[in-house]
Amino acid sequence: MTARKPKIVPLDDFDRESVPSQLAEIHRRLRRGGHDAFLVGGCIRDYLLGLTPKDFDTATDARPERVRKLLPHAFIIGRRFRLVHVRRGDATYEIATYRKEPPSIKVSKSARRFSPENTYGNQREDAFRRDYTINALYLDLSRNQVIDYVGGLRDLRDRVIRSIGPPEERFKEDPVRMLRAARFAAKLGFSLEPSVTAAIHANKKLLNHVSRPRMRDELVKLFLTGYGAASYRAMLKLDLLTTVFPQHEAARPMIEQAMVESDERFASGHKLSPTYLFATMLWHFYSDRLLKLEAEHGEHAQVGELRQQACHDIFQMTRRYISINREAEQFILSIFALQVRLERKRNIRRTLDHPRIRAAVHLLALRAQTGEVDPNVVTWWEKRQPPRDAKRPRKRISKQNQRTSRNEKRRIDVG
Ligand code: ATP
Ligand code: MG
Repeated sequence: MTARKPKIVPLDDFDRESVPSQLAEIHRRLRRGGHDAFLVGGCIRDYLLGLTPKDFDTATDARPERVRKLLPHAFIIGRRFRLVHVRRGDATYEIATYRKEPPSIKVSKSARRFSPENTYGNQREDAFRRDYTINALYLDLSRNQVIDYVGGLRDLRDRVIRSIGPPEERFKEDPVRMLRAARFAAKLGFSLEPSVTAAIHANKKLLNHVSRPRMRDELVKLFLTGYGAASYRAMLKLDLLTTVFPQHEAARPMIEQAMVESDERFASGHKLSPTYLFATMLWHFYSDRLLKLEAEHGEHAQVGELRQQACHDIFQMTRRYISINREAEQFILSIFALQVRLERKRNIRRTLDHPRIRAAVHLLALRAQTGEVDPNVVTWWEKRQPPRDAKRPRKRISKQNQRTSRNEKRRIDVG
C-alpha cells in the first residue's frame, strides 16, 4: 500500500463542469501565487463513483496566512487546525494546508483530546494522515490528474474501506474514524477491510472519549444525510451504538422506521430536524423511565412532575455523550408530554393550538407503526391538525421569549 512514488492517473474525460467555476478560479490564483492547489478527499471519491460531492475540499502547500493574502474574502478559522474559508456568494470553500501526523502519538488513558495539533507537511505526508485510502486522492484541476499515494483508486474499484496505517493506532488517535468507517460503508455500500472491522470491535469503547459536539455532528452526518437506515444498520452490525446509547435495542423498530422516514424526507428535499430524530431515539427510554417513576411514586405523584423527571433523567444520561441544548430539550419534553393528550383525545382545542402539534402527531404516527398506538387515533389527529405552514393564533410574548422562539424556529423544522 505504501508505494514510494504516487500513482498518477490521467482523467481524460473529467467533467470540468462538475467543479464550481469559482473554486477553479481559487485554484488558479493559488497556482499563480506559486503554490499547489488540489481537490482532495470526499469530493474525488464521490466524483469517481458517479455521486454528487457534498462539498469540495482543497489542499495546498501554502500556509493559511499566505492563502489569505492570495485570495479575496478568505478567513482563517479553527484553533486546533488552522484552515482558510473562502466565501464566494452563498458558497464557502475550505482550503487546508498540507499536514502530517506528528510522530509517536501517545494516548494516555484519560486523554480526551486525541487528535494532534497543526503540524505542516508535504503532500505525501498529508495523504498518509488521512483516514481511509478512498479519502486520500488528490485531483489537479490544471492537468486533470489523480494522484494516489495509498492505493485509494484500487480500493475504490474493489469497493473496500481500508485504513491508512494500522487501524488500531488510527482509532486510538481519533475514535471518530470508527464512526466514519460505518458511515462510508453505509453511504457507498462498501465493505470494511477485515482489520478495520477487528479494530472497531476492539476499540469501540474509545467512543466514550469523543467530545459531545463532535459526537453530535457525526451522528447528524450518519443519520440525517440521506443514508440513515443504512448507517443505522452498519452501526448495529459493528455494535457501535451501544457505547453511546446503551439501551437502543429496545427502541430498534421505532428507530428503524424513523430512519426510513428521515431518508425519504431527505430525498424529497425536506429539511430534517436532528432534535426530532433524537426524540424518536429517546422515546423508549423515556416511556420506560416514566413507568418506573409511576410505579415508585404511585397515585400520590403529579403526572406532569413525573414526566419532567423522566425527561430530566434521560437527558442527564444522554448529555454524557451528545450535546443537546435547552431548546431541544424543551422541544422533546413537549412532544413527549403531548402523547398522552393525543392518545386520549384530550383537550382537543388546546392540543391543536400547541406549537409542536405537528411533530407530536408525527411521533404518534411512528408509535402507531410499531404497534404502540391505535392507527385510527393518528388518522383522527392528522385530519384535524393545522397544515404545515399554518399561521398560529398570536400570543402576547415577551421580548426574551420572542428571541427564543425565533431561534428555535430556525433550528427545528419538523412535521
Ligand atoms: P463527506 O464530506 O462526504 O462526509 P469526506 O470524506 O469529504 O466525506 P470530510 O469530513 O469532509 O469527509 O473530510 C474531508 C477529508 O478530510 C476526508 O476525505 C479525509 O481525507 C480527511 N478527514 C476527515 N476526517 C478525518 C479524520 N477524523 N481522520 C483523518 N482524516 C480525516
Ligand atoms: Mg467532505
